[in-house]
Amino acid sequence: MDAPAAHATQADTGLTARQAEKAAYENNKLHKRLCRLVGQAIGDFNMIEEGDRVMVCLSGGKDSYALLDILLTLRERAPINFDIVAVNLDQKQPNFPEHVLPAYLRSLDVPFHIETQDTYSIVKRVIPEGKTTCSLCSRLRRGILYRVADELGATKIALGHHRDDIMETFFLNMFFGSKLKGMPPKLQSDDGRHIVIRPLAYVRESDTERYAALKNFPIIPCDLCGSQENLQRKQIKGMLREWEKKFPGRVDNIFSSLSTIVPSHLMDRSLFDFAKLEVTGLPLADGDIAFDESPCATTNTPVNIIQLQPQTTGGD
Ligand code: SF4
Repeated sequence: MDAPAAHATQADTGLTARQAEKAAYENNKLHKRLCRLVGQAIGDFNMIEEGDRVMVCLSGGKDSYALLDILLTLRERAPINFDIVAVNLDQKQPNFPEHVLPAYLRSLDVPFHIETQDTYSIVKRVIPEGKTTCSLCSRLRRGILYRVADELGATKIALGHHRDDIMETFFLNMFFGSKLKGMPPKLQSDDGRHIVIRPLAYVRESDTERYAALKNFPIIPCDLCGSQENLQRKQIKGMLREWEKKFPGRVDNIFSSLSTIVPSHLMDRSLFDFAKLEVTGLPLADGDIAFDESPCATTNTPVNIIQLQPQTTGGD
């Protein structure tokens, strides 16, 4: 698949030749960045292997379209062979435009399967009016997608969650669930029979937004079920946006911290055996300075040496 090109003419867009050239350059850069980040995540977590059949779950939202598009590009360049099959679950939400995805997928010549299951009616029947429907809805959806993966012989199930979803989930779990737990780029499904992958794990939502606009994906609105956007998730999203504006680099650092964990400096006794901790007589390179490293770096003197100096007083 080619890098996206500016299809509109100069007259259509009102751009000068120089502006059009700049826009094409930026678009190409975006496409390259998405390919690089997705390729990196796939490599870092060994998400896709030779002979895999990857079932790409397509909701009709910007992220899953971007996921499918980038995976198709990477498959052409990959040194390994793997298959892609796109799957959409039509949950029978009111006004779901059921022709949109099949038409799009046919235009790409991608094998696909549309699974029709009226989970919408089940959720409406079971959940009282005004209560959150998402948890039952997604549980039903998961079960159906796992079954479909079996039927299609898929070895991996690819979901379109991105970096912002991972960060939001991390803070949701911390703020409302008292857990240090995010959304893993690769995991075993809860039925123990599938490997679920999130190749967009390193990709920012703002990039999938721009990419969807650029590629003109036929987006299907995600509020057809009538459910309100999860208020807590919305708050977290706002908090992260605010941080990004006020403290550039903070959100990047938090995201990096998810891959740099020091269990001995947290408090989970199942991850680190504090009860059996004993002195070994051997200094640890990053033992007690794991947190203090950068503030002390300005002194050029290790903190434990400062602490061991004899105290001097002003007297004789
Ligand atoms: S927003 Fe609607 S479709 Fe999405 S999980 Fe919630 S209830 Fe289901």
